[in-house]
Amino acid sequence: MEYETVIGLEVHAELATQSKMFCACPVVDSIQAAPNTAVCPVCAGMPGVLPVVNRQAVAFGLRVALALDCRIAHTSLFARKNYFYPDLPKGYQISQYEYPLAEHGRLRIQTAAGERSIRIRRVHLEEDTGKLTHASRDGESFSLVNLNRAGVPLLEIVSEPDMHTVEEMRAYASGLRAILRTLAVNSGDMEKGVIRFEANISVRPLGSQQLGTRVEIKNLNSFRALERSTAYQIAVQSAALDRGEVVLQETLGWDEAAGVTFSQRSKEEAHDYRYFPEPDLPPLVVEQPWVDEIAAALPELPFDRRLRFARQYDIAPADAALLVEEQAVAEYFEQLVAALPADVSARQAANWITGELFAWMNQNAVSIQQVKVAPPVLADLLARAASDEINLTTAKAIFAEMLLQGGSPAQIIATRGLTQISDTGVVAALVQQVLDSNPQALENYLAGKETLENWFFGQVMRAAGRQANPQVVRAELQRALQTARTGEE
Ligand code: ADP
Ligand code: MG
Ligand code: ZN
Repeated sequence: MEYETVIGLEVHAELATQSKMFCACPVVDSIQAAPNTAVCPVCAGMPGVLPVVNRQAVAFGLRVALALDCRIAHTSLFARKNYFYPDLPKGYQISQYEYPLAEHGRLRIQTAAGERSIRIRRVHLEEDTGKLTHASRDGESFSLVNLNRAGVPLLEIVSEPDMHTVEEMRAYASGLRAILRTLAVNSGDMEKGVIRFEANISVRPLGSQQLGTRVEIKNLNSFRALERSTAYQIAVQSAALDRGEVVLQETLGWDEAAGVTFSQRSKEEAHDYRYFPEPDLPPLVVEQPWVDEIAAALPELPFDRRLRFARQYDIAPADAALLVEEQAVAEYFEQLVAALPADVSARQAANWITGELFAWMNQNAVSIQQVKVAPPVLADLLARAASDEINLTTAKAIFAEMLLQGGSPAQIIATRGLTQISDTGVVAALVQQVLDSNPQALENYLAGKETLENWFFGQVMRAAGRQANPQVVRAELQRALQTARTGEE
């Protein structure tokens, strides 16, 4: 039978505030900070303490909610979500339940099938838990508790079950990450766990309007895990329905190494969180003037920027998507374009960023902020490549050198003698030298093996230390070969 997949995503994003959600402890780097160095009685869950709401966290939450076109609740309520776990010192998490910060939004996505709008069910504020590290020594296993993360502001963004393919889900997830980064409320560093996904997945017979039974995969920390685990569940559920079985409502985990999901708990064992209003916090009141102020200060959002880039700079939508994923990259691109000479197109500039620059950033794990080549310097390099002063190969080599140790194109070209050889006399001499030292190849060429022209071309470029102007080499080579041919007749 043919099935339709239905996916709803719950996304947890840490908010990059200075201090925690309900206390003055700093939000510290999860990898660099020593364990339990950013902890106070409030986030450690000591009795008798009182939480105080972090205004910046609310502002960040509003920023996201507005970017997602949500309806803002002028009064929302914090609630206690009760459960016992060693990383949760209070025995409950302060969250929002019946009255969230915002509801009824949307996120526009673009896939190969076109543009779609995914509805957002709710956006609410809560606090993160601590972190457990499971270890063993001398055959004894134990767990270490680190409360640095306990109480860090979290924003939960819940979609409606509106996605139908893994591709749509990926577009939604990366679109949301791009928004969070553009709004500067989250670093987007997935390896540090600052964004976590929960995928709710069901399948139903194609054409059916009823939702199928869903499973929920918890704690997905990368796009790869999100996509693989979802694809896996789609296959498992379709196969079960094909066999006439039913899908069990469960909470699942994902085993990245084995590439399988595993059951964590079934519907019968589902948590009863016994939510109730947080008695230590008053209702969260958000006045309209504050909302208006935040709305007015929103930057251009990735989706709009992508459309503008594609239109204004005539670049492919896929390239535009790569350029807008990070605000700083989009800014780098626009500064580069502004500095370009007339004979270099924005499209070429985009290719240098998504090609050479991104490859280098990936290989060396550096961010755009750490890139030593300022946009005007790259523009200068592209101008020189376009003007025939240097060829493309040389330009790439100079770029690589500048990325590594800074400097300017003029200086590197001068000290290393990299100027392109465009002088026809010099190139003609190189061509003659190559033909003279390869008599057998020339004979074969004249006997009809025309493809050898490209081989000769390569030899001349090599003899020129790859610095020759390719057009001049091509012309001079063809002229010399023509002479050899007529000389023979
Ligand atoms: P909870 O996980 O707390 O029970 P909800 O019932 O509100 O919360 O659903 C959470 C997520 O699951 C939402 O993103 C929603 O869109 C999605 N969802 C709900 N039902 C289904 C379904 N049958 N198939 C796929 N996703 C679903
Ligand atoms: Mg859920
Ligand atoms: Zn604290």
